[in-house]
Amino acid sequence: MSKVIAVFNQKGGVGKTTTNVNLTASLGAMGKKILVLDLDPQGNTTSGYGIDKQSVEKTIYDVIIEGVDINETILNTEFENIDIVAADTDLAGCEIELTSRESREYILKNSLDKVRDNYDYIFIDCPPSLGMLTINSLTAVDSVLIPIQCEYYALEGVSQLMGTIKLVKSRLNSNLDIQGVVLSMFDGRANLSIQVVDEVKRYFKGNVYTTLIPRNVRLAEAPSHGKPVIYYDSKCKGAVAYMELAEEFIDLEEDII
Ligand code: ADP
Ligand code: MG
Repeated sequence: MSKVIAVFNQKGGVGKTTTNVNLTASLGAMGKKILVLDLDPQGNTTSGYGIDKQSVEKTIYDVIIEGVDINETILNTEFENIDIVAADTDLAGCEIELTSRESREYILKNSLDKVRDNYDYIFIDCPPSLGMLTINSLTAVDSVLIPIQCEYYALEGVSQLMGTIKLVKSRLNSNLDIQGVVLSMFDGRANLSIQVVDEVKRYFKGNVYTTLIPRNVRLAEAPSHGKPVIYYDSKCKGAVAYMELAEEFIDLEEDII
């Protein structure tokens, strides 16, 4: 049975998609079988994995709204152990279309049950909002991976984020857990970054990964080449950091440390 994880933070631009693409690619390279679900209408995970959104016939929209079997929407990528379900801008319409559906919170969960036996991990890239797509994904997952950007006001919005997790846990998914907090865009030369790390560690106690993701221009460039960073420049600081994060992730999962 795969473990299902949502990469979630309702703030935009904190590194959700970058973490989703690069952590999954690194886990894939380490031999884990991964399904990546793009649940953001912007489809940045889809294009970050080199898939041309225009050429995709069936997306996650068809699964959620048209009831298409998720198996018919899975695309194999050229990257090791990575399959993906793509998103495009149609997905934005889901928020409205879902409001009149019965059991609308459980649609994604029920779809994922069909593929849970086929992967080690299923990762969902959430949109930057607290709408029905995010609620669907928090209802479907075992845990939440939270990227936080090392910036001023890093913890702004975090109490709302935790409130949403609590609400979903009490009403829709009692097993929902925090997988971990990833600090992104860290700048070791800036006092601010160092302060943010301390602050976030105080707030989230033992749930913060030791690996820090540095600010690294290669991470920002890789998506325009349609590649996760380890396949774009395997030696850059960003690639090394995401490989380290994947190792730490697996060590914690398999209780090695
Ligand atoms: P989100 O999915 O939370 O909106 P993204 O992962 O798309 O955030 O990141 C926002 C922007 O910052 C993107 O342009 C991305 O390329 C860039 N970015 C993300 N992480 C890093 C990093 N560690 N170093 C440099 N640029 C980054
Ligand atoms: Mg994103």
